[in-house]
Amino acid sequence: MRKLEELLRDNILRLSPYSCARNEYSGHSATVLLDANENPYNNPYNRYPDPLQQELKNVMAKLKGVSPEQICFGNGSDEIIDLLFRCFCRPGVDNVVAIEPTYGMYRVCADINDVEYRPVRLDDNFQLDADRLLNACDANTKLIWICSPNNPTGNLIDSGMIEKVVSAFDGIVVIDEAYTDFSRSVPFRLKLAKFPNIVVLNTMSKAWGCAGIRLGMAFAQKEIIDIFNKVKYPYNINVLTQRYAMDALKDSFRVEKWINTIVEERGRMVAAFRALPVCRKIYPTDANFFLAKMDDAQAIYDYLVRKGIIVRNRTNVCMCENCLRVTIGTKSENNELLAALRQY
Ligand code: PMP
Repeated sequence: MRKLEELLRDNILRLSPYSCARNEYSGHSATVLLDANENPYNNPYNRYPDPLQQELKNVMAKLKGVSPEQICFGNGSDEIIDLLFRCFCRPGVDNVVAIEPTYGMYRVCADINDVEYRPVRLDDNFQLDADRLLNACDANTKLIWICSPNNPTGNLIDSGMIEKVVSAFDGIVVIDEAYTDFSRSVPFRLKLAKFPNIVVLNTMSKAWGCAGIRLGMAFAQKEIIDIFNKVKYPYNINVLTQRYAMDALKDSFRVEKWINTIVEERGRMVAAFRALPVCRKIYPTDANFFLAKMDDAQAIYDYLVRKGIIVRNRTNVCMCENCLRVTIGTKSENNELLAALRQY
C-alpha cells in the first residue's frame, strides 16, 4: 500500500477540522453547559449529539469484532461512499475502478465529485477477474470498489479474487458488505489486521431492519478512520438515531430470527420463480433479494405496478437485460407477488 499521505488529497491531509465545543474540556465532568449556544429547555433533544458516537461505537465494536477506533458511522453508508471520494480523489485528476454491474451510488458520487469512474465488467457468472480489474488501474487510481454480496446481482464475489486485488493494489479497496449478514462468508472486516488498505462498509439498513434511521458504517485501520472523522460533518449522526441504534443492538437475537426467516423465504421464492413460465433464469444469491431474468421485464414490471406490487426493474443496467430484482418480503407479500405472476 502507498503511504496514506500519498493517497490522500493534499487539502485533506492539511485540514484542521472544526472543533466542537464539547471536545475542548475532555477529562472534566460538566454540569453547566453554556458553551454551544443550545437552548437550555427541551432536554435531551436540546443538546448536540456526541460527534464521535463513543457509546454506540463501543457496543458496535463488540458486536462486529473490531475495535471502536476502527469504526466511522455515516448517515447511511451512502455518506461514507461520498466521504471516500472527498478524502482520496482529486477532482478532474484521480480515478476509481469498480466492478460492473454494481450499486449505482459509487458512480453517482464519482460524478458529483468530478472523479473518473472506470467500470470493469464481471464475467457471465457475475464473478470478478482480479487481473482485469487491476489492469484498469493506473498511477491515479485511488479507490477500487467491490460489492459482495453484489447489488443488483445478489451473488458473493469470490473472496480469493478480492484478496488478490487487495494484495496487488497499492491504493484503497472498498469492500461494500451491506448484505453480508444474509450470507455465510467470513466478513472482510475481520481481516483488517491482514489488509490495512481495505475499507469495509456495513449498514443498519438491511438485516437490522433500520433503513429509516440512516446508520451506515465503515471499518478501517485507525489512521483512515481518523481522517474520516476530520472530514465528516461534526454531528452527522443525530440523537434519535444514536438512541434507537443502542436499543436495536441490544436485541441481536431478533435480527438472527429475521435473517433466518428471510433466507428461508428466499429459498422458497427462488424455487417458485424457477417454476414460472415467464422466468428464464434466477442468478445465485447471498442477499435479501434475487435477480431474475424474465421474458419481458418491462411488461411484467408494468403489470405488477398496476397490481400495486413494486419490484426493481434492472433491464437497463449493464448485463441485466430483462432482469427484475426482487426483495424478499414477508411470507404474505411474497405470496401476493407469486399469485400475481401466476396470473400473468
Ligand atoms: N451499499 C449497497 C450495496 C446498497 O445496496 C445500499 C442500499 N441499497 C447501500 C450501500 C446504502 O445503504 P444505506 O442505507 O446504509 O445508505
